[in-house]
Amino acid sequence: MKKKIFLCTYGCQMNEYDSELIESILTADGFVLAADIQDADIILLNTCAVRNNAERKVFNHIDDIRHELQGKPVYIGILGCVATHLKEQIIKNKKRKIDFVVGPDSYRQLPDIIRKVIKENEKIFDVSLTTKENYEDITPTRKEGINAWVAVMRGCDNFCTFCVVPYTRGRERSRPMENILDEVRSLAAKGHPQVTFLGQNVNSYHDNQFDFADLLEATSAIEGIKRIRFMSPHPKDYLEKLINVVANNPKICKHIHLPLQAGNDRILQLMNRGYTKADYLSLVDKLYSHIPGLTLTTDIIVGFPTETDADFLDTVEVMEKVRFASAFIFKYSERKGTIAAKKYPDDVPEEKKTERIMKLNDLQKRISFEKNRSWIGKTLPVLVESETIAKGATQFQGRSDGYVTVVFPPGNYKAGDIVNVTIQEASSHWLKGIHHTPDA
Ligand code: SF4
Repeated sequence: MKKKIFLCTYGCQMNEYDSELIESILTADGFVLAADIQDADIILLNTCAVRNNAERKVFNHIDDIRHELQGKPVYIGILGCVATHLKEQIIKNKKRKIDFVVGPDSYRQLPDIIRKVIKENEKIFDVSLTTKENYEDITPTRKEGINAWVAVMRGCDNFCTFCVVPYTRGRERSRPMENILDEVRSLAAKGHPQVTFLGQNVNSYHDNQFDFADLLEATSAIEGIKRIRFMSPHPKDYLEKLINVVANNPKICKHIHLPLQAGNDRILQLMNRGYTKADYLSLVDKLYSHIPGLTLTTDIIVGFPTETDADFLDTVEVMEKVRFASAFIFKYSERKGTIAAKKYPDDVPEEKKTERIMKLNDLQKRISFEKNRSWIGKTLPVLVESETIAKGATQFQGRSDGYVTVVFPPGNYKAGDIVNVTIQEASSHWLKGIHHTPDA
């Protein structure tokens, strides 16, 4: 009898991609997917350790699962970043009764690990990291859809002082360019018109003489690929060549997610980000002037240790100058094992962090609304993603080149088409318009 797996995914797009890899590895080895938790023999939680509450969410979910199963026997495995971050602590936690813990570089071993856990009833723990594992020979089990995630590199060598990724996912390594292009060709043939290249530090991708700009150019030549996106680039690795490729290649979306993290030089140095406020602003000027219509989005941390009100105002100033289309803003949370946790006490009071995050969220909402409103009356090419119901009526939904959600009435088009939509209405989160037919 084939064992049934139920897989829950937390966190970033890289984890979504890894879950597709895990499904592929397990189903190729004879496991099948369960319809729900009740139907499963084995429950896998592919976890994220970037923020403190992400870990808490996983543990609360395990408690909910145990409660829902009401004593039904099931094997539970923790995979991903929490596995490498907390290591043996997870197995030692008697309350949660976890059966196996497997890190991001050991997914090939999962079928054997699960069989051993079942046969020998022993707890297994494999969180070793390598400098080579890229899973380049494994085709992820993708859901149908417009976009396909493609990890082009894994790991990170940057050691930002607040971040667990270099410890949970190990050192940087890139896939061979030809191997990525083969995958994209097969995705295009299966009907995915858009690929999003993923990497913790995606623009440090390299394969001998080929760099990330070469990869983007080569991908754009693949028939059937209409749009190429990527995330997340690091501001310190934005070379002239990459800017030119993004500016001049119509298939590469004019949207860049450019993590700022903080606007104050002292805090940026404590974070080990490798740039100053002036460097960041000068890069933004260069990007805006070379890439017409560019949309920038970002990540920001408030309340990093020792951040004063005056330091925080530098972040506000950068946000006002850059005018990001949207921003993911987080309160600093100390992550065990990081350089910041060892060197800098988490000394900004919780109320201060709350005050600062509220201020930035309000500011960002206003800027997002103003930016979206500036599209009213303009016609944007939109990649159609799906049907949606808005106020009881069927509508279509897609994304602009700049990654803004656009809603528009049904017409003679389908998911995967690029249609011109004239924008009539805007909020801070979406645009609404009508399909513009050139010959109407
Ligand atoms: S660049 Fe910094 S924040 Fe991003 S994954 Fe690497 S260490 Fe973490």
